[in-house]
Amino acid sequence: MIIKEALYVISSPTVETCPKPDKPEYAFIGRSNVGKSSLINMLCNREKLAKTSATPGKTKIINHFLINKSWYIVDLPGYGYAKISQSQRRQWEQMIENYLRKRENLVNVFILIDARHSPQANDLEFIHNLGKWEIPFTLVFTKADKEKPAVVERNVKAFADKLRESWQFLPRQFITSAEKKTGRDEILQFIDECNKA
Ligand code: GDP
Repeated sequence: MIIKEALYVISSPTVETCPKPDKPEYAFIGRSNVGKSSLINMLCNREKLAKTSATPGKTKIINHFLINKSWYIVDLPGYGYAKISQSQRRQWEQMIENYLRKRENLVNVFILIDARHSPQANDLEFIHNLGKWEIPFTLVFTKADKEKPAVVERNVKAFADKLRESWQFLPRQFITSAEKKTGRDEILQFIDECNKA
């Protein structure tokens, strides 16, 4: 798929104020600093479409980008940022749960995982919740250029092994680098196929 146009639409504090759900939508989420903004910018071929927050973990908004006038990319606030209070965390969880469970045009959630690390508890917990809510998702391993291929491979395998403990089928997975534009064609092709289905 060729991205001809990528437009920032709106930042919404709740699912109720998101744009009319009349186009397929793909959400991106992951731990704070996982490389989400970089990945969205890489997919759209734009340097500053998704902005990096100066205060990580503080942005509690749902950002919509309209692609080729026909589908949405949604940038969700990151999780796992250590320096937030319990009440802020609960607020984030409630907002995300509402968005994920109520957004009727949501086709797929891309869960971003840092390819440099072994499986992390909060990623696994988030995946567990998506399963419980029956929301389709795929895994995107980020920053693959920052590690040796063998290490990336080991971490990806370790993640799959963890998931196998509770899942019969493994989700689709993509290995990416925003720096090297790795995985771009695969993700866009996947979205194209979903849009046509
Ligand atoms: P976000 O908080 O998840 O949106 O993360 P950012 O996209 O702002 O990225 C966090 C940091 O990781 C920034 O310094 C990026 O330049 C860096 N980064 C993100 N993706 C990549 C990548 O694929 N390769 C490398 N080498 N660095 C990356």
